[in-house]
Amino acid sequence: MQTAPLTMTPPALDWDELDALKYLDEDAQVAALLADLPLDGAARASIAAEARALVTRARGLKRRKGVMESFLEEFGLSNAEGLALMCLAEALLRVPDEETADKLIAEKVRTGNWSEHVGKSDNWLVNAGTWGLMLTGTLVALPEAVRNDPNKFMSNFVSRAGEPVVRAGAMQAMRILGEQFVLGRSIEAAIKRGAGMVRSGMAARYSFDMLGEGARTNGDAERYVKSYGAAIDAVGASAQGAGPHAASGVSVKLSALHPRYEARSQERVFAELYPRILGLAQQAKHWNIGFTFDAEEADRLVLSLKLFERLAFEPSLAGWEGLGIVVQAYQKRARAAIAKLIQLARRRGTAIQVRLVKGAYWDGEIKRAQVMGRPDYPVWTTKAATDVHYLACARLLFGAGRAIFPQFATHNAHTVAAILRMGEAANTDRFEFQRLHGMGEALYAAVEPQPTVRVYAPVGGHEDLLPYLVRRLLENGANTSFVHSFLDDEVSPDVVAADPIATLEANPHRHRRLAAPSQLYGASRRNSTGRDITIESERAAFAQAVAATPALKPLTSASTQAISEAVSAAGAAFGAWDAKGGAERGRILRAMGDILQANQDNLVALIAREAGRSLQDGIDEVREAVDFCRYYAAEAERLFSGPRSLPAPAGERSTG
Ligand SMILES: Cc1cc2nc3c(=O)[nH]c(=O)nc-3n(C[C@H](O)[C@H](O)[C@H](O)COP(=O)(O)OP(=O)(O)OC[C@H]3O[C@@H](n4cnc5c(N)ncnc54)[C@H](O)[C@@H]3O)c2cc1C
Repeated sequence: MQTAPLTMTPPALDWDELDALKYLDEDAQVAALLADLPLDGAARASIAAEARALVTRARGLKRRKGVMESFLEEFGLSNAEGLALMCLAEALLRVPDEETADKLIAEKVRTGNWSEHVGKSDNWLVNAGTWGLMLTGTLVALPEAVRNDPNKFMSNFVSRAGEPVVRAGAMQAMRILGEQFVLGRSIEAAIKRGAGMVRSGMAARYSFDMLGEGARTNGDAERYVKSYGAAIDAVGASAQGAGPHAASGVSVKLSALHPRYEARSQERVFAELYPRILGLAQQAKHWNIGFTFDAEEADRLVLSLKLFERLAFEPSLAGWEGLGIVVQAYQKRARAAIAKLIQLARRRGTAIQVRLVKGAYWDGEIKRAQVMGRPDYPVWTTKAATDVHYLACARLLFGAGRAIFPQFATHNAHTVAAILRMGEAANTDRFEFQRLHGMGEALYAAVEPQPTVRVYAPVGGHEDLLPYLVRRLLENGANTSFVHSFLDDEVSPDVVAADPIATLEANPHRHRRLAAPSQLYGASRRNSTGRDITIESERAAFAQAVAATPALKPLTSASTQAISEAVSAAGAAFGAWDAKGGAERGRILRAMGDILQANQDNLVALIAREAGRSLQDGIDEVREAVDFCRYYAAEAERLFSGPRSLPAPAGERSTG
């Protein structure tokens, strides 16, 4: 492995500029999106008609739901069993000791209403999963006792057989299901199975993804690097020099390759992670196959783009068109990211591949922004905004000419119809579609003439499947998800293939139930504000503040004396404080919270300076204090309109 000399890299694009766009005002951005639509009225009408026809044709096909779709439909997150199943999987895969796993199984299995699912799915494997879960992996005919009262049967069964037996069974069920969602346990098995699918017309080519992400230790990361290296060699050897667009390739999650793949560890990432990526990219270039960075959390976008740029200008990778990156249309700054990638490709003089997705971490992005007290969300809050933004991003990609090889990854009929139409309008067939293994088969089979479809195929054991499976559940379990209603004959194709532009025009606002993170607690109190130190300028500002903060002098006996006097004074003042009444105490507490918030940076610098704590620790510490002040202010106002009547101190109690 070699590290490229930095001097070989032309002046970098300013990727940090993208961070200034991270929390753009959603309503203003939606207005801008609607003012510059990627499709005109005639195109919209014909796309809607084609999308409806696609849904109808797909429903009529023999090859209907993939096992993944059946599973997601049956066990979404909207029912107790879906949640129980995930908890169960979590127990089995993550809980280190068997006793705890058994306790969880007992709880989850007994509380699920399994009878609702038995025999319901039209895919026998999903039923096998249900039965495996229920009956230790054995596929059995429905006994009478089950038919009469499945829940009681289940409960009795667990009592009779005992949790360890059920644990073995559930493990078996996970294995049965897991093996359907991955193309193979090993890359060799996956390539072999994939070749069969290509022969039968189910796929044109693959992008293999070695399951595993978010390495916790360097040992994990090294293991993943090794497995990616082996995968690239195996895929490369089978590619027979067809080139990155025609041959199968490999997708990689950078979080698997280093335990500190995060913006605040940028230097370390370049020193330690970058050589690993470079080594893998050089291998991929050697075989001339595709090598794509998957997109992960929004906080990692800029860092991934910086790494990508450095790779793109590596002399050892010059002229290779296999380098690829994923852009998520649910990020409000996706168009700006694409514009920069187009610039990068033009300066490089060799095309890059860009896979456009909607984004798989939406729930996590929303939750993180709320928990961290971010200024707003980095993602749209309505699905229609994401759908329309996807098309706006696609227009940019089509407009990039030969600089970009666009790859459109979706299972949504309207999106597919729109991309086909945009490709026609741009007079190009230099692009491909992508779908996930086990999903979207019927949709793409219904497209006439057959487009080129690459299948993204996870490879690995069921032990590493959980994060992938949970993402699929989260994005598809929602009622708004396309997969949810696509093959459901009871939902009209008009509804399934509705024009997202019309939906957005009808409601061009952020989601009414997703106020900005500062408004998380509604009228009762404001959420404290954090700082996003994944943004370089914020980190730099803190570094300056820390440097400017003088170190505290060590405590002397005089200062200890002063502290104890202050504590006594506070105790003595309590009666007067109490007499102020709830409203006044609330006002003072709230003002105190506001002062702490306003001085957050100085306080964080002080915490870092004095206690050697990390910036994030300091931010969390100050925010907790602010939240406490605001919470107790609200409580004081709510509970005590006047002074409280406290019990008198013991010596003053009346004896009468
Ligand atoms: C081949 C392939 C590779 C992929 N690689 C990646 C990857 O590297 N990184 C990644 O993040 N994802 C990846 N994905 C997943 C992708 O981002 C989508 O989650 C998934 O494809 C669902 O989108 P859709 O168009 O198929 O379905 P749809 O049902 O039309 O769209 C669902 C998507 O809409 C968005 N959405 C849902 N609700 C809301 C809301 N309230 N507000 C805003 N947006 C909302 C979410 O992005 C959700 O995933 C990949 C998908 C495929 C097919």
